[in-house]
Amino acid sequence: MSDLAPPAPEAVPATLRGGRADVPGGPVRELLEPRETALGGNTVVRRLLPNLGRRMVGAWCFVDHYGPDDIADEPGMQVPPHPHMGLQTVSWLHEGSVLHRDSLGSLQTVRARELGLMTSGRAISHSEESPRPHARLLHGAQLWVALPDAHRHTEPRFEHHPDLPVVTADGLHGTVILGTVDGATSPGTVHTPLVGVDLTLREGSSARVPVEPDFEYAVLTMAGLTEVDGVRLEPGSMLYLGSGRRELPLRALTDGSLLLLGGEPFDEKIVMWWNFIGRSNEDIARARADWMTSDRFGTVHGYAGARVPAPALPATPLKARGRVR
Ligand code: MN
Repeated sequence: MSDLAPPAPEAVPATLRGGRADVPGGPVRELLEPRETALGGNTVVRRLLPNLGRRMVGAWCFVDHYGPDDIADEPGMQVPPHPHMGLQTVSWLHEGSVLHRDSLGSLQTVRARELGLMTSGRAISHSEESPRPHARLLHGAQLWVALPDAHRHTEPRFEHHPDLPVVTADGLHGTVILGTVDGATSPGTVHTPLVGVDLTLREGSSARVPVEPDFEYAVLTMAGLTEVDGVRLEPGSMLYLGSGRRELPLRALTDGSLLLLGGEPFDEKIVMWWNFIGRSNEDIARARADWMTSDRFGTVHGYAGARVPAPALPATPLKARGRVR
């Protein structure tokens, strides 16, 4: 073998970061269709990740958009105690608020544009409910971030960050949820290079948001009619953008708001089932059994209702899958 020959693949050290193999080498514009799913209470959500053929954007692996719903005469969100493993949950609201309880004893109201960040690590359980009394409207997104192998067994933790950094430009107001945008960094703990920013645009305005060429990105339209990289978007739609950009052009046809999610492509294969993320069928089966028969996931106190039993495991063993398939 000459000195110029590339190293054999097995000689390349495994990496927990990066990996562009399955990422389009440049910008793409791929519209992801939402799938309607019923949650607890009367809440119907539109699931955008995982999606057919697109399972992750960076470490972002789950995106539900809900509302705006008029819940004046309704209980609103009522999600009884349930477990999580191997991920972080991000509660993000535009209207209304959610009362979070968890097995660490946290009791926290998360209001619009405040960050409720729960790191499940090896095990946590929580409930989420609309407080009583509550505002008329409920509108938000529920997001999950997959934890890398080195951090997925970490101790569980809940963070509430009511004052997040903002970035502004003419007609644009951005709130940095996680990561860094234009030098402004969220206090939320992250375990892989990623970013989440809430962008509010005034009708008729245009902006160019600086982005990382090595990150892949997607935008979720929360409200209004916008154009992202020339593609017209309506509320509730998600556009996958690929990578390779240094800035992202935005235009507001009406007042509007977008969530921009991005990150270094997640290079590990994961098994995502129910509320758990593991690396194997055994990880998931053990977590399920532990939720049903042990106190591994702790106890949520104060929720008026029973905890959620785990569904049956599928007949065929779950397989670890990558971010695309
Ligand atoms: Mn949850």
